[in-house]
Amino acid sequence: MITRLNVHRQSADWQRALAQAVTDPEELFQRLALDPALLPAALKASEQFRVRVPLGYLGRMTPGDPNDPLLLQVLPLAEECLEIPGFQCDPVGDLESMPIPGLLHKYHGRVLLVTSGACAIHCRYCFRRHFPYRDASAIREAWPQILMYLRTHEEVREIILSGGDPLTLSDDKLAAMVSDLAGIPHLRTLRLHSRLPVVLPERIDDTLLGWLTGTRLRPIMVIHANHARELDGTTRAAMERLELAGVRLFNQTVLLRGINDDADALAMLNHALFDSGVQPYYLHMLDPVQGAAHFAVTEEHALTLMKQLSRQLPGYLIPRLVREVPGHDSKTQIAHSPHAVEGFSL
Ligand SMILES: *Cc1c(COP(=O)(O)O)cnc(C)c1O
Ligand code: SF4
Repeated sequence: MITRLNVHRQSADWQRALAQAVTDPEELFQRLALDPALLPAALKASEQFRVRVPLGYLGRMTPGDPNDPLLLQVLPLAEECLEIPGFQCDPVGDLESMPIPGLLHKYHGRVLLVTSGACAIHCRYCFRRHFPYRDASAIREAWPQILMYLRTHEEVREIILSGGDPLTLSDDKLAAMVSDLAGIPHLRTLRLHSRLPVVLPERIDDTLLGWLTGTRLRPIMVIHANHARELDGTTRAAMERLELAGVRLFNQTVLLRGINDDADALAMLNHALFDSGVQPYYLHMLDPVQGAAHFAVTEEHALTLMKQLSRQLPGYLIPRLVREVPGHDSKTQIAHSPHAVEGFSL
């Protein structure tokens, strides 16, 4: 969380933009000229998971269009309050693979740190909408333990800063973290997973590039874009700055019903990513999180989309279709031969 003090002290453009994000459902409805009949449901659903939309991102939406693919990612709906069997609060088993608060070690060679519970945008489909960040992002108190864990696990090559969104933290904090991590000789790669290059491109400023590229660790960033319309001149400029500074860029998309679940939308997204210097990486099946069932796409439809994509796009623009299955030692690729995934069906 950014305190008022912090904003005054540093008052970087991105911190002002973050502080100005829309958090009141009523304001969201007014700014986008939405049907007031939907407001009571939005207010109710936002009690479970608050609204948060940066103004720049809101500016890429079409006012008056209730089906705008950007709006649908942030608009609280009555459907969120339904309890659907199979949709859970901790769908990816995070709480079981956390040896230290804030540290997830599920896969060989890479460790994920939950660095912050805060995000610049609240995505309604988020698999961490129920995550107990208050316990899990205790990274400040657990930091010495985390460093000790990493020092004693010499097989770990890559450190992943995730969240919430790591780029909601101040540059001072991030720089200090990265400097400690760079002191662990077997670590090679510093990966950030962040939606800020897309939803708050102001964040990619010189101060950020300073600590991100001023380390011996090889920096890579996975941005999270779901739709071509999320990318405009401001985001393209942010990606260019990252690319010029030597940061390798990848994208991860969540496959979302009504937002990007058709081949043309996905093809346009992957072309737009390429135009921004970003390599498509994963197309994620939705995690079955409670409150997000209305975004779910069936595996059958996902496979059809992949087939259509492979006809439309060069191989290097096709992301891998994956799902996260609790207990598996990597993301699970969904291949063309249809198969059931344990514990989950649609
Ligand atoms: C997804 C994830 C990773 C990264 O997996 P890649 O296949 O390397 O992108 C690492 N750790 C955890 C806990 C994850 O959930
Ligand atoms: S963690 Fe990512 S998907 Fe979830 S709300 Fe934050 S930015 Fe959105």
